[in-house]
Amino acid sequence: MDVDKYNKSFANQEYVKGRGEETEYYIITAKLGDRRYKLTLLRNHSIIEESYHEGLTAAKNSAFEWLISHDPLIFKLNKATMVHYKEDRPNGNVWVKDTNVELHRNLEAYLKVNNIELKNGTFKNVEVSQGQQTWIFQGNPSIFDINNYISNHKYIWWSLRQEYFADKIQINDNVFLWRSDGGKRGTGGIIAACRIVSLPLEKADDSDAQEYWYTDDWKNAYLAVKLEVLEVRIGAEFISRLSLLEHPILKELLILRLRQQTNYLLSKKHAIELQGLWESKNSFHDELRNQVSSDIEASINLEITDTEKERVIKSRIGQSVFKKALLTREKKCGLCGVSDEQFLVASHIKPWSQSSNQERLDVNNGLLLCPNHDALFDKGYISFGDDGGILISESLNEATKVFLNINEDMRINISESQRQYMNWHCDNVFKANYK
Ligand SMILES: [Zn+2]
Repeated sequence: MDVDKYNKSFANQEYVKGRGEETEYYIITAKLGDRRYKLTLLRNHSIIEESYHEGLTAAKNSAFEWLISHDPLIFKLNKATMVHYKEDRPNGNVWVKDTNVELHRNLEAYLKVNNIELKNGTFKNVEVSQGQQTWIFQGNPSIFDINNYISNHKYIWWSLRQEYFADKIQINDNVFLWRSDGGKRGTGGIIAACRIVSLPLEKADDSDAQEYWYTDDWKNAYLAVKLEVLEVRIGAEFISRLSLLEHPILKELLILRLRQQTNYLLSKKHAIELQGLWESKNSFHDELRNQVSSDIEASINLEITDTEKERVIKSRIGQSVFKKALLTREKKCGLCGVSDEQFLVASHIKPWSQSSNQERLDVNNGLLLCPNHDALFDKGYISFGDDGGILISESLNEATKVFLNINEDMRINISESQRQYMNWHCDNVFKANYK
């Protein structure tokens, strides 16, 4: 294909000239080579999406997927036109438009293959069926403390910025929360699974969320839906954007290509894949833990106490999976600020030996401390109250406290979910009194 010629023709909007009524959207395919197609989506003649595909069908399907998730009513008559650019046509006419009948026939095939039903069976009013739907809602951690907001609340509010979805959202729909990387490469991805528990409504002055905002945006009225948080994975077990880019099917997710939206509706195919991935990551984690645990038992051919075993666990799993998870939440010792990662210890609040399997990898059961403060915490010379204020054992005298760098004014940030573990530590590990 002569790219210059194509670009010029494209820029002159020759895809629309003399071809009847204009439509809001154009789906444009251009045949580049043997089976290679460039797909361009236009809205009011501005490019909103470009991608490359093997085969015309793949290009068309990608366009359908994008347009349906963008606006379920997109294929109303005369809202979208599909045009193909191909240089070697016998009559020299490089631009050929699909008729509406062809467009809808193609769409019908796409819906059928992807198991998406039409509500009324008519393309004049196309809607994706109203079964349980799956969404991705995105948030930006550089303007809002998403990690703590979702960790500390069972019910949360999320804004609906793509307001055309207001009629579409239903109670009980699944929502995956996506944390954008906020400028920190590798941290973007899916960090929680939720369920919709309210229809969209106008929220104003959201004081519950106020403390999590780094801006004044909580004051503004906005359209929002209420979510029940089902599972949070802000640690290493989250589904990273980078891993999705490698996934054979989920690499097609719209959020990977069009990154600035808040609300994305997934196709059924993508919903099923993502749900499966979320579940399997869970079992991957279990497997990893079991494997490390049995590795340790096999490699240490001695009867060891749980305490010793815990020390080994700490050095293996603790310093890889668990620490990585904690590091996404905090980057320094909660007490003194030591921030050199090689010296930070991922400490279990409720000791590993006493914890259930689930508690062993729960980031809320973790505290990142320097070796000095970790030793004090581990041995029960310090603990923390409900407000995060330090509790110091009476068995330490003033001089010792100075040398060990602790004082009564110290406090850590403690979330509600960490609190239950901390209460356990306080009751069972902390040596409050002189012994
Ligand atoms: Zn410290």
